Amino acid sequence: MHIPFCLRKCPYCDFVSYPVAKVDGNAGVNTYIDALIQEIGARRRWLETEGLFPDAFHSLYIGGGTPSLLTAKQLTMLVEVIKSSFPFTREAEVTLEVNPGTITQSEVVAWRELGINRLSLGVQSFDDHMLAYLGRVHAVRDVYQTVKALRSAGFTNLSFDLMFGLPGQNLGQWQDSLRQAAHLEPPHISCYELTIEPGTAYAILYEEGKLEVPSEEEAIAMLEWTDQYLTGLGYDHYEISNYALPRFKSRHNQIYWQNRWYLGLGVAAYSYWGGRRWGNTTSLVEYSQSLAAGRLPEATTETLDLVGQVGETIMLGLRLAEGVSLAELRARFGISAWEIWEPEIQRLLRQGLVELAQGCLRLTAQGLLLANRVQSAFLRSS
Ligand code: SF4
Repeated sequence: MHIPFCLRKCPYCDFVSYPVAKVDGNAGVNTYIDALIQEIGARRRWLETEGLFPDAFHSLYIGGGTPSLLTAKQLTMLVEVIKSSFPFTREAEVTLEVNPGTITQSEVVAWRELGINRLSLGVQSFDDHMLAYLGRVHAVRDVYQTVKALRSAGFTNLSFDLMFGLPGQNLGQWQDSLRQAAHLEPPHISCYELTIEPGTAYAILYEEGKLEVPSEEEAIAMLEWTDQYLTGLGYDHYEISNYALPRFKSRHNQIYWQNRWYLGLGVAAYSYWGGRRWGNTTSLVEYSQSLAAGRLPEATTETLDLVGQVGETIMLGLRLAEGVSLAELRARFGISAWEIWEPEIQRLLRQGLVELAQGCLRLTAQGLLLANRVQSAFLRSS
């Protein structure tokens, strides 16, 4: 469920997100929530009509934007509507994305009462200069205060998002940030390399030669040190960018990487359900208008054939350390990966970028550094 509002736009961000001040503050957010509730109802009816209504959902992920900007009342309304509209398993993972510096103690208590059991924190860095340069609204002391407030309310399942390869950052600075993060003992850490996305303020600075990011060699050194350091502390490097202590892998994200079905609600949300992918409109106005007129707010749609589905499942599964089980793939789709992808698999095996281990196809250490190239071998227009 997508909440596309932030206090302000970060200069590197190409997500669909709107500064709250530009949507008329709370009034704009309330208009959006009304539309979101309409979409929940419309999507429920659509699933029933198509005969695609699931037995139960295993996860609810409230992401953004900055969903922690919602008041307890707004969030309660959304969660109650969604829980009364769709069935969830008793042990469902319910995650809320939180930006440090945007919470109050009473809201945190309300989140617990709502059944939220996992919080993903947009920490990004433990360097105040870097945070300011990234345009973040928080400082390092806010991270410490937020973690303290969350833990005292009883939250244990915390995940930190961190960024490396930042402008002017060297290996020592990244090591310092990651050490401070690990010192707080979050059971899950995601480490993302900064990418300069077209259309962002950073892209303009980069084109003008005013933004210097670490070289490829420096970025690789950061990646390698991260793996060594976090696995040394007992974290499992279970996905390209993700590390977890035992029992704390993100159940929600594993749904994406295993190419299972998921339903995205809200502006710009993506879904994959019944072999079809679709994306909602990115315009807040169009989103509300479509729903008010009784239409689902889909803007793009694509139905994948079997080859497309198998290729995507391999491509996404290669992100996982365990890789893709070829037997499971055959059981799920009724065809063998070898039948379709033998030349590609043989070539990648020869190049030492993938390996076969216990019936799973997975990236080697070298393949991990060239993951995008390896994955693209399984992209084929369907
Ligand atoms: S807080 Fe996140 S979603 Fe919002 S502008 Fe910054 S990076 Fe983008």
